[in-house]
Amino acid sequence: MPRPIRARIRLDAVRHNYRQAKALAPDARALAVVKANAYGHGAVAVARALADEADGFAVAYLEEGLELRESSIRAPILLLDGVFSPDEMRILDRAGLTPVIHSRLQLEWLLGARPERPLDCWLKMDSGMHRMGFAPGDFAAAYAQLAECRHVRSVVLMSHFARADEPDHDYTAQQMRVFAEATAALCAPRSLSNSAAVLAWPRAHGDWTRPGIMLYGASPFEGAHGSTASLRPAMTLESALISVRDLDPGEPVGYGGRFVCERPTRVGVAAVGYADGYPRHAPDGTPVAVRGRITRIVGRVSMDLVTLDLTGIEDAAIGAPVELWGGQISANAVAEASGTIAYQLFTNINRRVPLIYEDD
Ligand SMILES: *Cc1c(COP(=O)(O)O)cnc(C)c1O
Repeated sequence: MPRPIRARIRLDAVRHNYRQAKALAPDARALAVVKANAYGHGAVAVARALADEADGFAVAYLEEGLELRESSIRAPILLLDGVFSPDEMRILDRAGLTPVIHSRLQLEWLLGARPERPLDCWLKMDSGMHRMGFAPGDFAAAYAQLAECRHVRSVVLMSHFARADEPDHDYTAQQMRVFAEATAALCAPRSLSNSAAVLAWPRAHGDWTRPGIMLYGASPFEGAHGSTASLRPAMTLESALISVRDLDPGEPVGYGGRFVCERPTRVGVAAVGYADGYPRHAPDGTPVAVRGRITRIVGRVSMDLVTLDLTGIEDAAIGAPVELWGGQISANAVAEASGTIAYQLFTNINRRVPLIYEDD
């Protein structure tokens, strides 16, 4: 028997979640964000599962876009980081990919390109995140250069929110105001919303949304938020018990003896560790499910193994299924316990974890 680790991916859940994003913003088209190998879920499989209904896809950079084109994905594909050199502009042209233009240099590369067919592009404003994009005061002039360029067919005006996952903070409304003022005179479609804005900021929806994390059924918010209730987790990370032992009070478990048994404790070992992508910082008490019963991590996470408290789970023998996150344990709960976010849990899934696809 192979090592019992796997990530089961429900493609029907991804489709359901994409439809939720569309239903929340019914007047907008939605780019399914599948960068970073679809947040660890497998970009080609996810894009194929959405191919009949997605208005388009977004990836970070050229090679990620080419992978989808080579897998016969025909919908628009946006490169969120744009291109890194003028050479990439030629490859992008041949593959029919759409660049984000976030800097003057990229704008010059696009204006100076000699594409075989007119290009679509997205022009990015820095409305307050202060990471990428044109300053609001430079935006209209950059837009005018694109609008006048003979080999530019269309421009979408975009910006990105720094704090949309904080529904009670007014920074998102401030970014929306900055964007609205700087684009008031421009006649082009608009795109602002990541998952958090799709879920919590209806006024930001615009013409194109860009849902990412919600497609995979995780919440972009810290703590509970009602809007995520209808999402379905796409990934279940699961393993099995490969060892069970009974320890006495006072006996430590694992590296550094971080956990010390207070009473007689049955401890199980599951074949999953930080080299698979399980967070090494998961503290004692991080939830985990064994045979459908919720228990906790005890002791430090090792490279290939984790130790679990089996107290009260009498039927947990070697071979018993262990869910690290998925339908029973939310990735958000594991992330929160471990001081990280579900995005990082998903994208950290290592190559050594087979992805097993399921669909209805
Ligand atoms: C990654 C990304 C998104 C998707 O964000 P989520 O929080 O996963 O929904 C949207 N827009 C841009 C520019 C991104 O980089």
